[in-house]
This record gives sequence, structure tokens and C-alpha cells, in this order.
Amino acid sequence: MQSVNANNGLPEKQVLTVDVEDYFHVSAFEKAINRDDWNNLELRVEANTYRLLELFDKHQAKATFFTLGWVAERCPNLIKAIVAQGHELASHGFSHQRATIMTVDEFRADVSKSQQVLEDASGQAIIGYRAPSFSFNDSNTWAYQVLSDLGFEYSSSTYPIEHDLYGVPNWPRFKYQRIEGIIEIPVPTLSILGQNIGIGGGGYFRLYPYWLSKNRIDKYINTEKQPYCFYFHPWEIDPEQPRIPGVSVKSRLRHYLNLSRMEGKVIRLLEDYQWDTMKSVYLGR
Ligand SMILES: [Zn+2]
Repeated sequence: MQSVNANNGLPEKQVLTVDVEDYFHVSAFEKAINRDDWNNLELRVEANTYRLLELFDKHQAKATFFTLGWVAERCPNLIKAIVAQGHELASHGFSHQRATIMTVDEFRADVSKSQQVLEDASGQAIIGYRAPSFSFNDSNTWAYQVLSDLGFEYSSSTYPIEHDLYGVPNWPRFKYQRIEGIIEIPVPTLSILGQNIGIGGGGYFRLYPYWLSKNRIDKYINTEKQPYCFYFHPWEIDPEQPRIPGVSVKSRLRHYLNLSRMEGKVIRLLEDYQWDTMKSVYLGR
């Protein structure tokens, strides 16, 4: 059951999501950084996420934190702080491998391990999953069966746009129930002249001026009458993060663009909308 305003049928609450990973986990850097070196890099995700918790608390916003098992294993107190503030904890997998490059067994092992670590640290059942880099597509629909087998109830792993790294432009744009029993909640898009425009957050949100993003968000809420869902990462509010050498110009531009302005933009979002979790808005619980 979605919370709607009785006067005009528009969703009253929007959905705030954070993909809890560090600057060295991002898929665009996977060739530049060896996974074995992750333990030797400066961990910044914990402090950045605590800053987000403070911001959310100040604005009475609730969020869903899609958290990497790798992070939960190293920062159990952060996990406890997230759930103590009434946010929803969900899974972003264990090791940030895209679902498109894993076998069924590898995917099951990765997701199951993350679920275990997150449940142990939080004492709560983990029912939501988001694939790294929105990497569900026609090649791996078996992933939904795996999620269902593991007791997950929903996924937010698809972005119905054309993009060089991910995207399923022909897949549904709004929340729907899969035959495997999982509810899929795609990242929001606007359909403009037959093309889907991504408006869910991340790099697009850092690229465009705030007024333009807000304009698009309002258009989505008013014309589609669906709750809007925003996503971003703790490293996006951290302009001081170490720069990774050996990264392509395109990836570098995407990752480091407007980091210093992000926190201010997020604060404006927190002021302009009411935010709640995936579980509350989409599952009504
Ligand atoms: Zn991610």
C-alpha cells in the first residue's frame, strides 16, 4: 500500500536509498584496482555514512541502505547505527561483482554471504537487494529465482535506460511483481519522445543544476503518480577522497564530477520532499 495524498492522489512520501560502498568499490574502477588491495586502501565509507545518518536525522528522513557485505563485515557498529535510527538495511551483494559476470552459483554465494553478514550485524531479516551497477538484464533473469530462494521479497536492480555500462530500456519502468515472486522496483525514468531519461540520482544528479533535477522529479511524481526513488553513494559527498590512478577519462569525469556540490544538493532534496524506506513505501510495512 502506497501512501498517497487524499486530495490529488499523488504520493506523499518519496523513497531515499543509499548504496553503501566505498570509492574503490565502484564498477568503473574495477580494472584499475585489484580486489586484493581493497584492504590496504583508506576506508572512508564509515565516516561518510555517519555524516549521512546525521543529515537524515536532522531532516527526519528515513532511507533504505543497500549495503555491501564487505562493508558490514568491517563496520558492524555502522550497521547497528543505521538500524537504531529506524532506517531499513538491505543488501548490495558482498563483493560488488556485477550479476552479469557471475554464474548462478557465484551469484547465490555472494548474495547469501552478504545477507548473512547483514543479518548477523543488525539482528534483522534482510528482504531487499540491489545489484551492483543495476546489472540485471535479459541474460540473468535466473537471479530473481535465487533471490526468491534466499527469502528476499524485493529487488531494485534495473534501470530502464540506454547506457554504456548497464540499462534495460525495454523493461518495465514501474514497480511490478515477477513470476519468481520478487517485486522489482526499477530506478525512475521520464519517457521523453520515446526515450527513457534517467532521473534516479547518481551522476546525473551531480551533473545537472538542482532546479532541473527537481523539475524532473516533480514531473515524475505529478504525471506518473508514482513515488519517486532517489539513489546515491556515501563517496559522492566526499570531495577529499583519494584519486585512483589509471582510470579512463570518461570514468574519471563521471566519478569526480561536482563532488563538492553534492552534499548541498542532497540537503535541498531532504528539505523539499518527505523521505521514507523502500519497505515502507513500496511494501506498505
Ligand atoms: Zn554499487
